[in-house]
Amino acid sequence: MFTPITGRSVLVTGGTKGIGKGIARVFARAGANVVITGRNAELGEVAVADLAGLDGTVTFARGDVTEKADCDRVIAQAVERNGGLDVLCANAGIFPQTRLADLTAREIDEIFAINVKGCMLSVQAALTALTASGHGRVILTSSITGPQSGFPGWSHYGATKAAQLGFLKSAAIELAPMQITMNAVLPGNVETEGLEELGPEYRKAMEDSVPQGRLGTVDDIGNACLFLATDEASYITGQALTIDGGQMLPESLMALEAM
Ligand code: NAP
Repeated sequence: MFTPITGRSVLVTGGTKGIGKGIARVFARAGANVVITGRNAELGEVAVADLAGLDGTVTFARGDVTEKADCDRVIAQAVERNGGLDVLCANAGIFPQTRLADLTAREIDEIFAINVKGCMLSVQAALTALTASGHGRVILTSSITGPQSGFPGWSHYGATKAAQLGFLKSAAIELAPMQITMNAVLPGNVETEGLEELGPEYRKAMEDSVPQGRLGTVDDIGNACLFLATDEASYITGQALTIDGGQMLPESLMALEAM
């Protein structure tokens, strides 16, 4: 039995839809008080309404992770609303698809600004509050794409998701003396609005490549984050946890066909 996280204060960047919203739901269900962020305030308020009535509260703070001032402000809002900050889920990210030959410098700058710089600025902004909590937790949303696998059109995206793990390794050492753990979740293909936009053919191909025969759910990712946030996970830091229904296991197509 894990120690309940009831009343803990959690901030989820990019929590207005998709995986982030799922993470927020799992934490609020477990009694945590959650602040979700994103750039679109309308989407944020819809998410707050959707996540009402759970054991913990969910509120929205508008913020763009690429702006240091926004990162500082949303952390301050979480501290003020919920009496401190215990958990940061640095989840905001984008995954546009462009082949290497067509990539513009602007596209590369944008994806690194959100997925890498935004992740780093969010963690940096949370350090004082997480230290004060005495059991701070940072959980990054990386991906199997980049650290473990590739897909045409995602060379820039994969580079950002691998970069997050490079950031994680050194930062986790720096944060260890403050009793802050820092880990990453590496989702496979998860049912989200973002994934739906990739179309039905992509979805079917992904389902067929997962040994468990289904895409991940946002709850699958949220539950892993919740575990990493527990007191019982206090000795786990600097790690990357793959959550993909076994998608990375087959050594070849033949391995899937032989199932
Ligand atoms: P999504 O449904 O498109 O949601 C992305 C969230 O991030 C939204 O809340 C969005 O809100 C926010 N966001 C984007 N840019 C932002 C910015 N500059 N500042 C603040 N918030 C920002 O995407 P998702 O599928 O849930 O993906 C979430 C994370 O999981 C990403 O890091 C992604 O790389 C990772 N991931 C997803 C999958 C998958 O299968 N879906 C698999 C592996 C990893 P606004 O646009 O309003 O700002």
